[in-house]
Amino acid sequence: MASRKDSVPMTTAPAMRDCPKCGHANSTAGMKTLQIEMRPVLTAEVFAFPDALAEVSCLKCNACGHWICLDYRIELDDNPELDINPE
Ligand SMILES: [Zn+2]
Repeated sequence: MASRKDSVPMTTAPAMRDCPKCGHANSTAGMKTLQIEMRPVLTAEVFAFPDALAEVSCLKCNACGHWICLDYRIELDDNPELDINPE
């Protein structure tokens, strides 16, 4: 029986990523994952929003030092304490 290639599509980042600023091709092996606390801007219409944590995968260009954002994921607080009492 012939071996079959995995049919699941690749979702990982490509091995190389061109810098949008200088065009230098950077290896995504040097990718860093940062965790950032989201602080949404509240408005009259959106007056409450749960705390959220964003996980950002970024890569620093070896040539010019520009940070490239490759991917991000946002996690919402499961038990948000929303202050919905109008003043
Ligand atoms: Zn660059």
